[in-house]
Amino acid sequence: MVLSSIDDLADFVTASPGSYHAAAEVARRLAAAGYALLDETADWSDAVVPGARVVLVRDGAVIAVAVPESASATTPYRVLGAHTDSPALKLKPRPTIGGSGLLQAGVEIYGGPILASWFDRELDFAGRIVDTDGVQHLVRSGPWARVPHLAIHLDRDLNSGFSPDRQRDLQPILGVATPGDDIVGSLATLAGIAAEDVAGYDLVTVDTQPPRRFGIAGDLFASPRLDNLTSVHAGLRAMESLETGSAIAVLAAFDHEEVGSESRSGAAGPLLADVLERVTAALGGGRADLARAIASSWCCSADAGHAVHPNRPEMHDPANRPVVGGGPLLKINAVQRYTTDAAGAALWGRVCRAADVPWQEFVSNNDVPCGSTIGPITATRLGIRTFDVGTPLLSMHSARELCHVDDPGRLAAAAAVFLAAAE
Ligand code: ZN
Repeated sequence: MVLSSIDDLADFVTASPGSYHAAAEVARRLAAAGYALLDETADWSDAVVPGARVVLVRDGAVIAVAVPESASATTPYRVLGAHTDSPALKLKPRPTIGGSGLLQAGVEIYGGPILASWFDRELDFAGRIVDTDGVQHLVRSGPWARVPHLAIHLDRDLNSGFSPDRQRDLQPILGVATPGDDIVGSLATLAGIAAEDVAGYDLVTVDTQPPRRFGIAGDLFASPRLDNLTSVHAGLRAMESLETGSAIAVLAAFDHEEVGSESRSGAAGPLLADVLERVTAALGGGRADLARAIASSWCCSADAGHAVHPNRPEMHDPANRPVVGGGPLLKINAVQRYTTDAAGAALWGRVCRAADVPWQEFVSNNDVPCGSTIGPITATRLGIRTFDVGTPLLSMHSARELCHVDDPGRLAAAAAVFLAAAE
């Protein structure tokens, strides 16, 4: 089954330079695949019925639901969870700054980027502008900005521990300064509104270089935002071609994972819990019915993970060394930074066998702190059985990450089996 070509992932990444674009692109594609756009403020009782396929966008988050024809008030859920955001530089208020004859933009740091990777690369600003009437405009600037390195001649110690000052060294240049420079005004032009009508914006940088295959055999893939658009894309592909099974399939892609998930569009908020409660209610169920449904439900928390770096293999566990091209990861952690337990591992094994894809376990070296995902947050909020998976990457949180061309499609194939409860 060719569920996901790497070219389609490249198209999705290109259409999704930030979380707001990613959520909108998921909704656009699912609408094209027959999903109805759902309004959170509306009564859902006529929209969410057996056989319904719906999608809703909340800021930079998106949730899609596919209800089987056989659904009842206690039908369990299969949730594929992911996140739409990535580390970046985020435009500050009063962004028009500069010095030494150059126009610069004031930015803060979003999430945990590898700062060195954001230097010397042409950057887009992408995200949303909200006008004084409260209307949202999605915009992207094109190649406006670059954070230039200081020449090695001016800092002979540059290569002995690169540690840029997070304020002084990260403000990108946008051109030669001219009288009347106004970055907000230029953003307003992108949105097709007047500068005085820009009431606020949520704009982050992204690498302008398109995703591409590379390597002597073309088997590697370089792209911005593989953490975590590989997972969002896998869920999207699965939902586009879903053959619903015995469970209600849900794709939940949250914003703000890279800054802790605590927001109204993040996994720590009530978004998913509210949607599941409302879906069960629309199918005639109350709180007890939802608890019954949740008790037999599963969440697959999908987020990019770490392949072994060939120059630093000792950073991994000696016995568990997942490789680029070896298939998606099953992520395991004793202190629940990942949710996977033995029951989740068993389900994932059945899913991958049914999808005919290889997989590999990831567990941290005890001396290397473990990252986390939306999995533990979702399991804690909902009490839903959860396991953590993801595409193995190198260069995670670089402006330009790396994976194998086959691994994202394998994750998508597994996601399709999981969401259809077809294992
Ligand atoms: Zn991630």
